[in-house]
Amino acid sequence: MSSNFLFIWADSGLSTKSNHVNAPYHFVHIGEIIDYIEKELNQDIDLLDIEAEATEFQDIMKKIIKGNYKAVAFYINTENLENTIKLQKYIKEVTHNCKTIAYGEMPIYLPKYFRKTDFDAIVSKNCDQEIALLDFFKYSLGEINKEEQRGVILIENRELIKCKQGEFLEPEKWGFTDLKKVPVKKYFEMENKEQVVLTVARGCPFDCPYCNAVLYYGRKERWRPVEKIIEYINKTKCEYYKFFAPDFTLNEKKALELAKALEKNEFKIKWSCTTRPDLLKNEELIKTMAASRML
Ligand code: SF4
Repeated sequence: MSSNFLFIWADSGLSTKSNHVNAPYHFVHIGEIIDYIEKELNQDIDLLDIEAEATEFQDIMKKIIKGNYKAVAFYINTENLENTIKLQKYIKEVTHNCKTIAYGEMPIYLPKYFRKTDFDAIVSKNCDQEIALLDFFKYSLGEINKEEQRGVILIENRELIKCKQGEFLEPEKWGFTDLKKVPVKKYFEMENKEQVVLTVARGCPFDCPYCNAVLYYGRKERWRPVEKIIEYINKTKCEYYKFFAPDFTLNEKKALELAKALEKNEFKIKWSCTTRPDLLKNEELIKTMAASRML
């Protein structure tokens, strides 16, 4: 069945970061988000991960013309901003009723920049991205009114029009990257190892000025249920996992619960995470993390 919606991650015009730095974010900002929205809408969503697959321009345009999409969502970071803006313009020229929305780092940091673009909308800060994208897609289908879109900022006559207040999703509902949906082999090549990335927590109370964690997910930390994390690992069975969390050891109870569950789990993995040095004071936790095959 053809899809009404398409996600695009354009390639980087500015090579300010090497490829492997972005690799984890393809799981987080594409795989997990698409999974949530597909389940909510009960329909397939198409994906053009141009950065990962190095898709040729003519193949991109063929897909767009053939797809006749109701809406396209573009993930935009610093590196692919320039290419995304160009591509979005071409897409608008060859489609008639296709709505476009930008989400990710740049719309969050620089919403006003998008006033002078041809995007129909952007996703605001302080809203889980998949909530805003879901509502924008529903709006594109005529299922909800424009005022009902949570965390969506519409661009009309070069002005930003805020719709409804953004919301955060309960962790039980976060999506999991379907490894058959995304070009996972390309992600492994970018990373140079067979590593799956999985969000385990969102939100950070520290709000460092150089970091986008709070802009994306707010200050309140919340964890995905540990049993769901283990279930996903046992289903996907890869050698390496990166547990994506702003501060993995902020909630020591949850970090310990996961480390113990990994230690007990029959299928063994190698894993990594990130945290702050001042959140590494609990010796029992550190030992359990190491024993559970942490890298
Ligand atoms: S503690 Fe880490 S995740 Fe939190 S705001 Fe600072 S840099 Fe970002």
